[in-house]
Amino acid sequence: METIANITTVRKLLDEYDLKAKKKYGQNFLVDEETVKKIVDEVDDDSFVLEIGPGLGALTQKLVKAHRVIAYEIDSDLVRVLNEIFKEDENLDVRNQDITEVDLGEVIRQESDGRKCTVVSNLPYYITTDILNQVFCSSDDVEKVIVMMQKEVAMRFVNRTDRKDYNVINVLADLYSDYEPVCRVGKHCFYPVPGVDSAVLKFELKNDRVDMALVEFIRDCFSNRRKLLLSVLKQKGYGVDAETFGNIGLSDRVRVEDLSVSDFVRLYEVTR
Ligand code: SAM
Repeated sequence: METIANITTVRKLLDEYDLKAKKKYGQNFLVDEETVKKIVDEVDDDSFVLEIGPGLGALTQKLVKAHRVIAYEIDSDLVRVLNEIFKEDENLDVRNQDITEVDLGEVIRQESDGRKCTVVSNLPYYITTDILNQVFCSSDDVEKVIVMMQKEVAMRFVNRTDRKDYNVINVLADLYSDYEPVCRVGKHCFYPVPGVDSAVLKFELKNDRVDMALVEFIRDCFSNRRKLLLSVLKQKGYGVDAETFGNIGLSDRVRVEDLSVSDFVRLYEVTR
């Protein structure tokens, strides 16, 4: 099979199977081999891969050469194409399921067989957030998550000075992973060409056990970002007052976006 991450092959496959890219599933297929290589190179040799949204198999094609791959694809038309292209590949298990309905932690535990898992995904951002949330909170077997996302969203992780759009997921990423950009991906690396550029980020998970009570506390802090944090927490039933904030060097006038990651942890500790 020729390289899938190529505009000619992608067009040919869509023609052959009488398909069009579906907007509702965010289908913009990668047609840049260099980007595929950069992503695949990030996967450790001894890891198995959970691929989310394989599409026509641009990444899958390289991943299955060196790894066992479990791929979740929502679109049954694409599952048909993948099953045909990769019919000889015993390393690949394509599952026709919506990833938001899958218990990722459970699947990873069942399939890990002593190996660590790398999650590779190229999905709409709202799903990516859900996946990162699940991965940070539910599995010790994941060592890495490599995700493609809209460039602006990726910058929100990387550029820590602008906290206007900072959210629960950014705090969890800071607490439970080390992350860095892998590459920028211009919109012309996709077919059809999307409206925006993308970037790939790599999250390497720390071994710390996730404290779910802390995660809940962080979620509560973000439950009303326009209000003063002190009143948000009071409303949520935490026993805090201006003095509690003062004791850890915080003004009682702060909003959630003013907090650093260590502020969240200290505030959580004094509210327990
Ligand atoms: N990975 C392929 C590539 O790079 O060419 C395709 C990327 S395309 C941006 C996103 C893929 O995710 C599509 O194949 C789409 O059908 C699939 N997808 C979208 N939502 C999904 C969901 N909830 N669960 C599983 N797959 C999904």
